[in-house]
Amino acid sequence: MLTIENLSHTYPNGTKALSGVNLDIPRGMYGLLGPNGAGKSTLMRIVATLQTPSEGEVHFGNLDVLKDPDALRRRLGYLPQDFGVYPRVSAYDMLDHMAVLKGISARSERKAVVETLLEQTNLWAVRGKSIAGFSGGMRQRFGIAQALIGDPDLIIVDEPTAGLDPEERNRFLNLLAGIGDEKVVILSTHIVDDVDDLCPQMSVLANGQVQLEGKPADLIAET
Ligand code: ADP
Ligand code: ADP
Repeated sequence: MLTIENLSHTYPNGTKALSGVNLDIPRGMYGLLGPNGAGKSTLMRIVATLQTPSEGEVHFGNLDVLKDPDALRRRLGYLPQDFGVYPRVSAYDMLDHMAVLKGISARSERKAVVETLLEQTNLWAVRGKSIAGFSGGMRQRFGIAQALIGDPDLIIVDEPTAGLDPEERNRFLNLLAGIGDEKVVILSTHIVDDVDDLCPQMSVLANGQVQLEGKPADLIAET
């Protein structure tokens, strides 16, 4: 479904973050595992069209992502590693605002979307509170609510469980697991257990290259 071909990226300072990455990512949960500095965020930012690679191609179904980034953005939900939050804005108002930006103009439709996402992410009770006061786990759940606005069919979450306590982590992973098998959901992480628990398919990235690809049960013993 998401095909990455011969993707390479060198930053202006000369750092080679990706070299010749080829991946074929099916629908469902997909784990991208690798240590810090492996190139995961670079790869995810390129797929999210926030960065143009030095070389290579990205296709999502029939869509040529690098040629038509706007079309990809309309189908994308992206939870970056560090997402900024506006102090003093409530969770409800922020989601409502994001829904406007996603093109959901009818107020009644926005209300339905925002309420559903607040319930799905277990944030209904704190919808009127400022995101700045949220715990790490609440923030990440809010990040997923944001990413799911507009019913995207490609969802990218970058290092979502880093810094979460075990209970918050489980809550977050269960939420991800509930997103559904028809979508492509990429979980980028350095935590082996995240992938092992959740993803039927995975790859291991290190030094900007794909080292292994397959099922966690077959691969994790090797890492
Ligand atoms: P990961 O997400 O796996 O930790 P990154 O994609 O963040 O990996 O980083 C891959 C490599 O690219 C690292 O060596 C990192 O230092 C470097 N890098 C990341 N962003 C930049 C940047 N904006 N400029 C230069 N080098 C960068
Ligand atoms: P209506 O569109 O029918 O006037 P409201 O905007 O009053 O409905 O909101 C109905 C529901 O959505 C209520 O449960 C309310 O708590 C919630 N809600 C709406 N706006 C906000 C907001 N800015 N902050 C928190 N909750 C909100």
